[in-house]
Formats: sequence, structure tokens, C-alpha cells
Amino acid sequence: MTARGEAPAGVVQTYRGPVAPADLGWTLTHEHLFVRSPELDRDYPHPEWDADAAVETAVAGLEELYGLGVRTVVDLTVPGLGRDTGLAARVAARTRVHLVASTGWYADEVLPPYFRTHGPGRLVGGPDPLVEMFTRDVVAGIGDSGVRAGMLKVVTDVPGMTDDITRVMAAAATVHAATGVPITTHSNPHLRNGLDQARFLLGRGVAADHLVIGHSGDSEDLDYLLTLLDLGVTLGMDRFGMAHTGDDEKRTATVLALLERGHAGQLVLSHDAAYFSRVTPPAWRRAHTPHWTHDHLSRRVVPQLLERGARQEDLDTMMIHNAQRLLTPVVDPT
Ligand SMILES: [Zn+2]
Repeated sequence: MTARGEAPAGVVQTYRGPVAPADLGWTLTHEHLFVRSPELDRDYPHPEWDADAAVETAVAGLEELYGLGVRTVVDLTVPGLGRDTGLAARVAARTRVHLVASTGWYADEVLPPYFRTHGPGRLVGGPDPLVEMFTRDVVAGIGDSGVRAGMLKVVTDVPGMTDDITRVMAAAATVHAATGVPITTHSNPHLRNGLDQARFLLGRGVAADHLVIGHSGDSEDLDYLLTLLDLGVTLGMDRFGMAHTGDDEKRTATVLALLERGHAGQLVLSHDAAYFSRVTPPAWRRAHTPHWTHDHLSRRVVPQLLERGARQEDLDTMMIHNAQRLLTPVVDPT
């Protein structure tokens, strides 16, 4: 399967079809609608989960975001986090916000057993299923939804670059090379392992201007962040409101420090929020992380950044132009 010639070049794929990059507007690049756990959900349903109610919550939330000026939201709920493209499509059909789907695999150490036996040199053999899956999601669409993924996501956390994690990252690099679709990551900035990700992916030919090292905003280590910026990648300052992994005051100060050094062109801001997550369910969030919502940047953080010296131009660069550059597939990927 090849991406070439199957889609108009230079468009961004969304739940409702291709969008011209110039129409993306203010974009939240690292968010979730519904984070679930299909096997648990099937036999041990979560008391707070109600699919119809969740759809209503998400539609209302996204329409509220539209009113606040948000035009595009990237849903980074990939397999491993309970991606449900059909359910998200029900939301997308009812909101003016462009929703971008993603592919990849969310695991921080090992893949499910299926992957152990499938792939070149393995028991059952065949081509690497990860490459086939990511390619199909990007080129043909996810499942039978017809929705094409607009971003690839990979994960490195405490266990680091295990064999399986390296395999996922290699597959993402391969699919990026073939399709030009951007890559974003979940990193653990306290272990500075965004550097491992950046070096690995850049070493495999991933375009630095189409690579986001996610969760970098949870670090205040300017030495680490500037080292990443030197590699040309974009930093995801993408957990505003997530009080249990960091402090917004510090996150804001770090963004301001990087803006002062002229790095607006390599920063994107987001929340990593969700309308429902089985990991940290709504009631828990209301009690412990009341501002971890998709409107937090618009309502509180952006006004604060502007008050404390960020220029509107910097905000537009981070929220509009960088997102546009990142999400527009590399024109000639090879
Ligand atoms: Zn996330």
C-alpha cells in the first residue's frame, strides 16, 4: 500500500475529510475525547461511563471551545488507550471543531502477545503488523470508518527504549517516511528521554519540523529543553491543568522563558485532557484536577501568558502556525 496519489497533497485529514492547512486555525495538538479500556469496559463497565452521555458532553465541550476560538483538536487516543473511531465520529459529526484522528500504539514497555508472534523472523511471521496497521490507518482509514489518521503517536516512559517500544518507534518512522504524516510522542521529561526519542526518530529520517516531543512542558530543565530545541523538534507544552504531574505556574514560567529566547516557532500548547478517561475518571478529575479541561488554556493560561509578556504574535505562532506546519504532511516524504 502506498500513500502517493491517493489523497490531495498538502491537506490535513480529519474526521470529516480533508481540510486545507490554512483552515485549521487555533489548534490543540495533544488531547483526548474518551480514554477507555475495551476489555475492562466490556465485562466490568465503569460506573461513570455512558456512551450517549459522553458523546453529549464532548459535543457540548467542543462547541464551547469553538466559541472560545478553538478550531482544531487532535485526538491522540491511539490503540492501547481504547481508541473508538466510531464513537468519536459521532462527536465529530455534530461539532464545528475539526477533529484529527491518530494512529500508533500506546504502551510503555511491552506490546500485546499478538505482536510477539507476528512479524519478520517471528513464530507466525509475515510483515510487521505495526507498519501495516499504521499505514492502513493513514492511507485507507481506521477500521471501516473511512476516517484517516492525521498523526502518529509513540510512547517512551520509565522503562525507556525496550525492544517493543523501539519496534513501535521504528514502525512510526517507516510510516512517516512513506506518508509524510507527523509524529508526536509521550515522553518522560524527568528522565530526559525525549532526547532518546528525538535522536532515534531523526536518525531514521523523520523530519524535525514534523516531530513533537510531547509532555516536555512538565520539565523546567531549560538545559534539557534547549538541547531538544537545538535538534529542531517542537516541544509539546501539553499538560496544562494536569495538576498531578506538574504545576501550571512552573509550566507558564517555562513557556515564557522559552518565548523570551525566541523559540515560539518550536512550541505547541495543549492539555492532554479528556471528556472521559477510565484512568482518571470524571469524578476524580473534578475533585483533584478541576482545571484539567480542554478550555483551560483559552480561559486562564493564554490570558496569563499575555499579561506576563508573551506577544499575541507568539500565541498565534504556537497555536496556529506551528500546528499548521506540523499537521500538514511532508510534501515529498522520501
Ligand atoms: Zn495524551
